[in-house]
Amino acid sequence: MKTVLISGAGIAGPTLGFWLKAAGFEPTLIERAPALRSGGYVIDFWGLGYDIAERTGIVSEINRVGYKVREVRIVNDRGRRAAGFRTTLFTELAGGRYVTLLRSELSRLLFEKLESTAEVIFDDEIVSLEEDASAARVQLKHSGERQFDLVIGADGLHSTVRKLAFGPTQHFEKDLGYIVAAFEVRSYRPRDEDVYLMYGQPGRMVGRFTLRDDRTLFLFVFAVDGDPLPSTIDQQKAMLLEKYAACGWECPSILAELDRATELYFDRVSQIRMSNWSKGRIALIGDAAFCVSLLAGQGSALAMISAYVLAGELARAGARYQQAFENYETRLRPFVEMKQRGAERFAGALAPKTRWGLCFRNQVIRAFAVPRLAKLAIGREIIDTLQLPEYDFRLFQHH
Ligand SMILES: Cc1cc2nc3c(=O)[nH]c(=O)nc-3n(C[C@H](O)[C@H](O)[C@H](O)COP(=O)(O)OP(=O)(O)OC[C@H]3O[C@@H](n4cnc5c(N)ncnc54)[C@H](O)[C@@H]3O)c2cc1C
Repeated sequence: MKTVLISGAGIAGPTLGFWLKAAGFEPTLIERAPALRSGGYVIDFWGLGYDIAERTGIVSEINRVGYKVREVRIVNDRGRRAAGFRTTLFTELAGGRYVTLLRSELSRLLFEKLESTAEVIFDDEIVSLEEDASAARVQLKHSGERQFDLVIGADGLHSTVRKLAFGPTQHFEKDLGYIVAAFEVRSYRPRDEDVYLMYGQPGRMVGRFTLRDDRTLFLFVFAVDGDPLPSTIDQQKAMLLEKYAACGWECPSILAELDRATELYFDRVSQIRMSNWSKGRIALIGDAAFCVSLLAGQGSALAMISAYVLAGELARAGARYQQAFENYETRLRPFVEMKQRGAERFAGALAPKTRWGLCFRNQVIRAFAVPRLAKLAIGREIIDTLQLPEYDFRLFQHH
């Protein structure tokens, strides 16, 4: 029980590879993209994810490339502050260990911990997957057939490993009724360093975040009613132009920037809900297994936690990989399901569908200015209730 193929070099994949390597396994990481993806969107990072980052030895780098957001500011049509809050409270609740960084930077830092010690294959993917009592056999698109002891899907919301081993995405996808889009530009003005600006109309919001090196990131979240997801970048841009055409604030200039963007992140806001995260020699981690969606604000941390716990359980169980898969799921399922429920509740708050809902949301956010109330309202969501297990990762090397 030594060789493990991990599909996907996002957040969960490299984390799993790192900890499996520490336990004496031979991980192989396969990524469909020709190189690690850059840009994308920013994520908030704290709690147990931060703890694992510490154990992986990347915390000082995370803080170096990350941002300390000072304020979340909701603006009106004319750019005036309608509501908002200082983030001191989040930082305080997280014990000072709270940072905002590009998802791609976190992915890169995790990957760099692994790349020189494990086999890494870019620009390739699994196209078929079979297993028997002795091994899992995969057919790779460009590199022929290979055999491994275990195959782990860390290939995100649209996981191929999940499709091949468990069935089509629609069997497991819960559409939360929104689309999310993000893109990055250079030289946009105005800039507001370390402030997250948000503007909303019923059923749609747009966020602006200032990055280093004269870059700016825009994030859109808007409600859809069963509209099919456009597939080409031109169709996606057309949908954004239509949805935001009547919006005030800086929307006309943001849409003008969109016209020039060559890369656009565009996806449905969905969750993945499965009754089992493993089957035989195959298991899923991160978004592939249980995507909580951006509305949980903690998907990356959960991706890292699931990778760490799976590696620990495999190290502990030796050849009894089925026992390890079972323990991994038992430990994490209640925590993950709690986060999924929280995200569903939050869905209405980020882009309320009615004007009344917008006012209500702003009122609630204004109440955040009262620390006691804010602690009551968000403390429960911020503080992780899961105890991170301790594993002796050298254990497996003695089996
Ligand atoms: C707009 C937005 C904001 C978010 N904000 C936050 C936040 O504030 N905090 C937070 O913690 N999380 C946040 N998240 C969630 C977080 O980004 C995800 O939960 C996290 O990236 C999941 O990691 P993963 O490794 O499971 O999947 P991913 O990061 O999606 O990585 C999957 C990898 O697999 C690769 N891949 C796909 N298919 C194949 C294939 N067939 N073969 C090989 N490789 C393949 C992909 O190219 C990718 O590299 C946000 C998400 C979005 C969309």
